[in-house]
Amino acid sequence: MTTSASETVVSAFLQRQPVRMLIGGQWVDAASGKTFETLNPATGEVLARVAEGDREDIDRAVKAARAAFESGPWAKMTPSQRGRLLWRVAELIEEHADELAMLETLDNGKPIRYSKGSDVPLTADHFRYFAGWATKIEGETVPVSIPNMFTYTLREPLGVVGQIIPWNFPMQMASWKLAPALAAGNTVILKPAEQTPLTALRLGELICEAGFPDGVVNIVPGYGHTAGAALAEHLDVDKIAFTGSTEVGKKVLMASAGNLKKVTLELGGKSPNIIFPDADLKWAVRGALTAIYFNSGQICTAGSRLFVHRDIYDQTMEQLAKAADAMRVGAGVDPATEVGPIISQEQLDRVAGYIESGQREGAITRAGGERLGGDLASGYFLRPTILDQVRDEMTVAREEIFGPVVVAMPFEEIEEVAARANQSIYGLAAGVWTADVKKAHKLVALLKSGVIWVNTYNQFDAAAPFGGYRQSGYGREMGHAVLDAYTQVKTAWISLR
Ligand code: ADP
Repeated sequence: MTTSASETVVSAFLQRQPVRMLIGGQWVDAASGKTFETLNPATGEVLARVAEGDREDIDRAVKAARAAFESGPWAKMTPSQRGRLLWRVAELIEEHADELAMLETLDNGKPIRYSKGSDVPLTADHFRYFAGWATKIEGETVPVSIPNMFTYTLREPLGVVGQIIPWNFPMQMASWKLAPALAAGNTVILKPAEQTPLTALRLGELICEAGFPDGVVNIVPGYGHTAGAALAEHLDVDKIAFTGSTEVGKKVLMASAGNLKKVTLELGGKSPNIIFPDADLKWAVRGALTAIYFNSGQICTAGSRLFVHRDIYDQTMEQLAKAADAMRVGAGVDPATEVGPIISQEQLDRVAGYIESGQREGAITRAGGERLGGDLASGYFLRPTILDQVRDEMTVAREEIFGPVVVAMPFEEIEEVAARANQSIYGLAAGVWTADVKKAHKLVALLKSGVIWVNTYNQFDAAAPFGGYRQSGYGREMGHAVLDAYTQVKTAWISLR
């Protein structure tokens, strides 16, 4: 599809009043008839009205998912047929790439160069990767020490899965959740974030077009404390997969206790990014920028604590400040934009509050720090910000800011920096920049985080497991590791006596 053709499709999609939810294969209004607005963060304008799911809609969706799981075509489908459906979704995403990228940019604000170049292709890849897994989920034969016994395991789907996702990568998060759950044979209720429901709903249309039976995928947009909470509590949901803040992750876990549903959590982070004097400084500076400013810092792996060796501290800070100042901040629809808006006024206020708190505690602002005015005043734009002379104990060095703000600190020794880097309630990701392979491996061993990038940052691939240590969550997404999160093991004992 050409860009202008996809713009026409996007505007037709946005003119639906409201955009409906997907339950049991039907596109329906909320039971309450209520709707909510989703805004364009680059302008603050309303993009579309969306059906507002709540407890009753969640209940209907769970009933549809239960029926689809227990009987009907999905329950009888072969692994190969499931794989084909997932593959078809990947093809449809590629056929609608421009349209999906534009919709993502309008709803989330992210630069079109990333929604086109990264979000859409990675979303398609995710479905394709898990299409392959549908036929490869195997049990084992078990060499028990009891004579005349044949013992084997089966890996079976969990059943009805609730999935709650955030607003920072709406389409990719939907694919991380849906693709493995469906490959394993589960049925799903997906609740997109209230700030960014549109691409998940469009994806739902493509999933229907691919030929998934009714009720296998249900998509219920709505608020967290209503629709999200109802899903997390629901007694007929077998599992919840959640990505979002650590605070809400804890609520989801508590809500799961009613029926002891399985839970996996992908939560916050305060990831260290460490630059040694032997690193290729040009790359390290570029890497440090990507680590924090990609997606306007609204990424759980953001390299938000920058540790730079004292020997190269001043020159690194100078180069970093210059590069941050030069970044093009603007509306995501502009192909030249490198840093888009923050998702909402609320989030902008939160991030600005952190900058002020850092300044109050003695940090020096080396770049950014202020909101953009002029043409961009009605959107939620903040310049890429560097806070220097930060100390480990400051709030800005401890709490997740989730915006384009990096805090910088010098270090001297490898053990010292590892200990300081590990001083966090989180343990999601870490970056290390060095030409010394020994330092690299030493830090991989010392750092307490689920992902470590050496001489690179923010790399993701459907084949590579991803998830957190400590309060960054538990369970892994991607790779075959995620299949543990969507299957359960049944052990069969057959007496041959
Ligand atoms: P963020 O801080 O990135 O907005 P949240 O953790 O607040 O992340 O939200 C992530 C997702 O969790 C969203 O879909 C949101 O609607 C949902 N959510 C928020 N509160 C709850 C809750 N109490 N129970 C279940 N889901 C919730």
